[in-house]
Amino acid sequence: MRGKIRFTVLFFAVASTFARAQSSGPFASYDCRPEEEMIRATELENRAKRVKQLLDSLIASEIATAFSIPDILPVYEDTLNGWKYWTFAENFAFGKNRGNIPMITALEALHPYFRDKVIALIARARKAGIELAVVETYRTRAKQMEYKSMGRKYTRSGAGASKHQYGLAVDVVPLVNGVPEWHNRALWHKIGVMGERLGLRWGGRWRKPYDPGHFEWTGGLTTPQLAAGQLPLPPKCSEQYPCLEQDLKLLKKFWNEWENNQAVMARKN
Ligand SMILES: [Zn+2]
Repeated sequence: MRGKIRFTVLFFAVASTFARAQSSGPFASYDCRPEEEMIRATELENRAKRVKQLLDSLIASEIATAFSIPDILPVYEDTLNGWKYWTFAENFAFGKNRGNIPMITALEALHPYFRDKVIALIARARKAGIELAVVETYRTRAKQMEYKSMGRKYTRSGAGASKHQYGLAVDVVPLVNGVPEWHNRALWHKIGVMGERLGLRWGGRWRKPYDPGHFEWTGGLTTPQLAAGQLPLPPKCSEQYPCLEQDLKLLKKFWNEWENNQAVMARKN
């Protein structure tokens, strides 16, 4: 009840601010758009805060190999616009040409089990004094095709063949004094070994292309199985992720929204 009152008060405070700002005449129609913008900005800010808190708390405590974070990153509320809250980065945000279609960088766009491994990796790296930036998490078909068209050093996988397209891969880069450091092999090796200890496959072991920022996990599923719509259910997942199947269902829905959004963008390019 108290929460409801607080929300109501906040709502009227926000609404009256905009009403004042817009009152160009006594019968001016009410424009709800600025208010939506404000709610969205607050939502984004809160999410960013939650992720930061999570990382800080993990670093403060002993980091276990596996852990669950349901109360800090629940995130999967089934809303119409939930997918719009995912963070993304524009081209050159990490000092490299990565094409015109934005990269989704939200950790919550990943399979929850893999997401927690990635958070553990970021936390362990930070504990070792290495700051990692998330370059890309989930990847749409349109984005994968864009990389494919950019040449072999970007990807050799066509649409459907990259683990990013199933929320099972991530690209990271270490920041040195806030600047992405793409060419430090020794540093990459340190990070790669950290990821491997968490049970992730590291792209730094590959030659075509050498992809040291890439980590993935498929839970033993093959690409055709993933392409057919299967997603891995990790061991003991019912204890650690009691709502995993609903989460995955909702993730697929949000992925679809991004697919549609970026398909339109690809046609415009
Ligand atoms: Zn990758």
